[in-house]
Amino acid sequence: MNLHKLILTENACYKAGKKITVKGIMVHSTGANNPNLKRYVGPDDGLLGKNQYGNHWNTYHPGGREVCVHAFIGKLADGTIATYQTLPWNHRGWHAGGSANNTHIGFEICEDGLTDYAYFKKVYREAVELCAYLCKEYGLTEQNIICHSEGYKQGVASNHGDVMHWFPKHGKSMDTFRAEVKALLAADTKEDTEDTAEPVVTYPEKLTSGYYRVRKTWKDSKSQVGAYRILTNAKAAADKNPGTFVFANDGTAIYPADKTTEPDYRIHTVVKGDTLWEIAEQYLGKGARYTEIKKLNGLTSNVIYSGWKLKIPN
Ligand SMILES: [Zn+2]
Repeated sequence: MNLHKLILTENACYKAGKKITVKGIMVHSTGANNPNLKRYVGPDDGLLGKNQYGNHWNTYHPGGREVCVHAFIGKLADGTIATYQTLPWNHRGWHAGGSANNTHIGFEICEDGLTDYAYFKKVYREAVELCAYLCKEYGLTEQNIICHSEGYKQGVASNHGDVMHWFPKHGKSMDTFRAEVKALLAADTKEDTEDTAEPVVTYPEKLTSGYYRVRKTWKDSKSQVGAYRILTNAKAAADKNPGTFVFANDGTAIYPADKTTEPDYRIHTVVKGDTLWEIAEQYLGKGARYTEIKKLNGLTSNVIYSGWKLKIPN
């Protein structure tokens, strides 16, 4: 998943400021032949491209309508596929035309002419990954995912056909969609259990070789106040001696995390709702160098989960 964030703060829905308890996800597609994110998401952040008509949804009532969703999936200016989060996930959206607004996160997949399989395959997969991510964040399962037309049948949404006027053209349905989300969640759980998904370096509480050294800097060995086999003891020593850090055997400063100055990265503990893009922007400024964070942490996608400790380049 290629997740970015641009909250539609000018939209009346955002300004209404209502929160929901997330109980499900509703999948929509836009119903218009325009696969470009810039049609709906703006202003241009350098990746979206400029919407020359200024008719994106970061306006009070887009096209005179009370509409807003939590995310869009479509094309960036360079033709690659991305997801843009456009409302906080637990904000009450205006997407269902029914009571699902009170319970469901809603996102739109930008439609094209509906016949291009290559485009469909990419946005469909992106949507599966987004749903798996949201299921993990909100403790949901694939059973909590419906599309707009299913919502209508359940009496919680207005009478629209999306996405079942599109998915079947390419051999897919909401059932295949849910099955793929389920598979992805199962794969993630398995990886977590096998401890291969975590890009985070963990340091053992008790070393059998080498020491945790407490110093001001790695190079300044004279500033060392102690060397410990037990991590807790090393941390206690660093706490007692302001300005010192706990260093692992390879010279990596590992404690205290928020003040670590050596080597040239800091640690960010991911909290619920963080996106990689957002963290990059927070630490590294606009035009975020989030690819550096990905590289530094050995990440292969932009999906990050609560509790991960990410290295942030200085
Ligand atoms: Zn819809």
